[in-house]
Amino acid sequence: MIQEKELTDGLTTKEAEKRIKEFGLNELKHNNRASALKIFLSQFNDFIVWVLIAATLISGIIGDKADAVTILIIIVINAILGFIQEFRTEKSLEALKELAAPTCKVLRDSSLKIINSIYLTIGDIVILEAGDRIPADGFFIESSGIVVDESLLTGESVGVNKDAKQYKINNSNSKSQNEKKQTIKNNTGFMGTTVVKGKGLFKIDCIGMKTEMGKIAELIQNIEEEKSPLNKRLDSLGKILVIICIIICGIVTIMGIMRGHDITEMFLLGVSLAVAAIPEGLAAIVTVSLALGVSRMLKKNALVRKLPAVETLGCTSVICSDKTGTLTQNKMTVKEVYLNGRIYEIEKERLNEERKLKKALVYCNDCNYDFTKKKIDEALHGDPTETALINMFFHEVKELEAFLNGANRVFDIPFDSTRKMMSVVIREGEKETCYVKGAPERVIERCDYILENNKIKPFTYQKKKQVADFITAMSSRALRCIAGAYKEDNLIKGERIEENLIFLGIAGSIDPPREEARDAVLKCKLAGIKPVMITGDHQNTALAIAKSLNICNTSEQVMTGEEIEAISDLELEGKIKKIRVFARVSPSHKLRIVRAFKKKGNIVAMTGDGVNDAPAIKESDIGIAMGISGTDVTKEASSMILMDDNFSTIVAAVEEGRIIYDNIRKFIRYLLSCNLGEVLTMFLATVFYLPNPLSPIQILLVNLATDGLPAIALGVDPPEQDIMRQLPREKKESIFARGLVEKIVIRGSLIGLCTLLAFMAGRYYKMNLETCRTLALCTLVMSQLIHVFECRSERHSIFQIKLFTNPYLVGAVMISIILICAVLYVPFLQGIFHTVALSINQWLIVMFFSGIIAFINSVYLLIKSK
Ligand code: ATP
Repeated sequence: MIQEKELTDGLTTKEAEKRIKEFGLNELKHNNRASALKIFLSQFNDFIVWVLIAATLISGIIGDKADAVTILIIIVINAILGFIQEFRTEKSLEALKELAAPTCKVLRDSSLKIINSIYLTIGDIVILEAGDRIPADGFFIESSGIVVDESLLTGESVGVNKDAKQYKINNSNSKSQNEKKQTIKNNTGFMGTTVVKGKGLFKIDCIGMKTEMGKIAELIQNIEEEKSPLNKRLDSLGKILVIICIIICGIVTIMGIMRGHDITEMFLLGVSLAVAAIPEGLAAIVTVSLALGVSRMLKKNALVRKLPAVETLGCTSVICSDKTGTLTQNKMTVKEVYLNGRIYEIEKERLNEERKLKKALVYCNDCNYDFTKKKIDEALHGDPTETALINMFFHEVKELEAFLNGANRVFDIPFDSTRKMMSVVIREGEKETCYVKGAPERVIERCDYILENNKIKPFTYQKKKQVADFITAMSSRALRCIAGAYKEDNLIKGERIEENLIFLGIAGSIDPPREEARDAVLKCKLAGIKPVMITGDHQNTALAIAKSLNICNTSEQVMTGEEIEAISDLELEGKIKKIRVFARVSPSHKLRIVRAFKKKGNIVAMTGDGVNDAPAIKESDIGIAMGISGTDVTKEASSMILMDDNFSTIVAAVEEGRIIYDNIRKFIRYLLSCNLGEVLTMFLATVFYLPNPLSPIQILLVNLATDGLPAIALGVDPPEQDIMRQLPREKKESIFARGLVEKIVIRGSLIGLCTLLAFMAGRYYKMNLETCRTLALCTLVMSQLIHVFECRSERHSIFQIKLFTNPYLVGAVMISIILICAVLYVPFLQGIFHTVALSINQWLIVMFFSGIIAFINSVYLLIKSK
């Protein structure tokens, strides 16, 4: 039963809290969240690891027990490392989901609050407008032209009309049962469906898993999250590498056995080598770096909704951005007014005879007022375009309140960015007047008269031309122009009220460009990315602002909505290359713009806020919704949300996308060349009939010391300085493109070769097998730890980059060095790992063989880059 009080004021915060305790949160539960234990156990969910455990146990029973225990400990430490990585990813992804959760406008304690939808409870009253997603099940208690898209539940794409009035009928007892059913259907709304049109108050009566959506959610619990294309490719690459590794390890094992080595020892060696060399963590590290990148982007105000988008971001070649609020500050101030045949500069002079224009711009205005506030700025809430108009006329709240008093709005047609106009019918006493405001050319084409110095005159062709010239001049001064008009007679509500109007005048507002946008535009250009402005504003206003931001320099680079309409898709594709500004466009044009750019081979990022922008956002490669001004529908169609509606945030996100991709390449390069080095060391020794240069435990130790931490640290490496001076990469480009395979193969082979040479040097100097193996172990580890620094840059040598700018990497390398030194110099560990303490001279051999290739390679790169 609904209390009258609740209907108007909403719940009190206290009552809401009580109900949340009683009924729970308004959220759909996910069963498939991985628990910590599950993640830990999944680390052992790998066939090769089980073979290693089995082999270790067997060798432990029949052979060296200490070896077996050590191997098991190493396996557990490895699992812990893997667990830490995966657990962090899981946690940060969960945190992101929380942030991406939708908000809603709810009445609490008699005032409007924006809250996270999960805190909605039964009895809450929510305000719903076009573009909003209904946050829980309930019914409309007030509505004006509400149409809801319920296709999510019904599959029926036709919008459903909802009417709150039905609710009142529903409450009266005189209606028959049948009619009641009908009415319930017509005023109910369901979680997850979207309001396409209209406005209304909605009362919640079912939340969370109890909603219709909750029932469906129960059925679809176990759908997997989307993998990024790169992840998928790496998964399949991983499979190929596993097969190659197993074949090579098999050869090493079989040849060893054929040459009379101990069977269990050789088997253990083969399996250890497989464990060390198979890059099982590759796909996982990619997810980790994408997820870490996502949280870094969030710090810069870009909320990535889909992980794969991070990858695409780096390829962006065109950024289509809305103007108002994204490239500009959305802080409007009226600077000039055209009235009575001339321009008034607002700061310098007072307007004469402006009473009608004042009414048109203030009555025909959707601002909300709070007359309890003292300052006019605090009293006004609404679109800056509209608040600016009120600010121009009023400095005192009392004055404004008095002006609005007695003017009752009896009808309105709200502003929409396709019509670019808004109209109201106002009743003052007995008299009704229609006031219109909107884009000047749209208003002027509906005007037959003009009011000048209080006289109504015919709005002749000459006069219109004269006014148009003023508009051109005002627009060229970057002013956003809004015309006002009215009419008093022949008001037929809803039809043709916007005809035969009397023209009043024009207000021109300045909306300064965002300071940081200018730098961001420059950054785009250097990075080979085309910044494109899309706006509903006049072409001259758009051009003036675009020029000041350096987006374009001539009017040839501007295209209007009208021009788009006049040409075919094919012609648009032909012309689009040189266009930098699209002016006076409607949301529907955006879709054609995205398609044309895409057809021309571009990777397009497109911003949007309104419901009508959703199709273009969906069509683009990177759909970007506005966090502040965006509607739920656009947000849900998007792959990224700009929390601060700021253009420079897009550019920062693109940069971050490039950084992440580069880092993924860095650690793939590192991991694969290291693994290749390990496998080749053992393989070449077998081929050349040498003893095994490393024991199974040593192989696992190398894997632990160099594969784990340094690789993760590369994933958070700071970018190369010229990362935003490169052209965007092709979307289809393989991760191994631009010479990465060659780098891996050459460098990996050299690591293997040098390790083997160090081993042979030991034998040459007649050192015992343990010392030779220790030389090989140290050379392998040191070569990899040197190589990790080389992997930080693809274009520069280690002499050209600042080596120590990644503290994680320095830390990881230090830990690995300490680990190796401990294994060499702590007597207890020497026994376990079969190592000896190396002398200075022996270290020189290690340093020579691990450093020589890096040195030659760096000198080569240095000469090449000169
Ligand atoms: P974008 O945000 O894409 O840069 P925009 O916000 O400048 O575009 P619109 O909001 O569609 O574009 O505005 C287009 C034109 O409509 C403006 O130039 C102005 O003349 C007029 N206009 C804007 N807001 C209103 C309003 N609230 N009432 C009447 N007319 C308006």
